[in-house]
Amino acid sequence: MNHLVLYLRMLTDLVFPRVCPLCGNVLVENEKMICSRCLTDLPQTHFRNMQDNPVARMFWGRVPFSAATSYLFFEKGNKARKMIHEIKYHDNKELGYEAGQLTGHYLLSTEAFMDIDIIVPVPLHKRKHKIRGYNQSEWIGKGVSEVLTKPIDCDNLYRKVFNPSQTRQNRYSRWKNVEGIFDLRDPGRFAGKHLLLLDDVITTGSTIEACSLALRKAPGARISIVSLAFAY
Ligand SMILES: [Zn+2]
Repeated sequence: MNHLVLYLRMLTDLVFPRVCPLCGNVLVENEKMICSRCLTDLPQTHFRNMQDNPVARMFWGRVPFSAATSYLFFEKGNKARKMIHEIKYHDNKELGYEAGQLTGHYLLSTEAFMDIDIIVPVPLHKRKHKIRGYNQSEWIGKGVSEVLTKPIDCDNLYRKVFNPSQTRQNRYSRWKNVEGIFDLRDPGRFAGKHLLLLDDVITTGSTIEACSLALRKAPGARISIVSLAFAY
């Protein structure tokens, strides 16, 4: 950052102090959005090097995948929950981007994620996209994409169904429930690629399962799964 930009930022900070969206404390000049203290306190899962971890276990027998992990634990009252809430409901796209960069650094140098070809964020239905104005997973994905230096595709996978009923019944009815929610515009574009399917929070796994059904239409594609947070 050049001196003028730094000077202007310091000046703006004096007039309009920037605050950390997770704790409300005033940020110091070298902090981007999340304060250093919150960064240290983030509830990391440390799952990335564990092939057998709770996120992976959630998808066993449901989705063929290469690797699955989440960056943070999502829990009532914790900082990951606050972060997701800010990103999703307070129009804080930039926080999504920073959270994505953190997720990217978390994945960096993890062997299972090193040969990713394309990052694919879970899409919103176009109507929901219009209502919210942006897709939070796309912004997280952009941050991941920058750090991993891998391209992001926000167009090929799309959501066909606006609001399916949620169910956690037996496997067949669950499969029926997620089938056909998402689709690929051009299966050939993802053919033979290692896709990193990305969501903001994984809770029941049904969204990831539904997306995977569509991604598997791409011949020879492999899927890995990542989310900013994991509700367990
Ligand atoms: Zn903070």
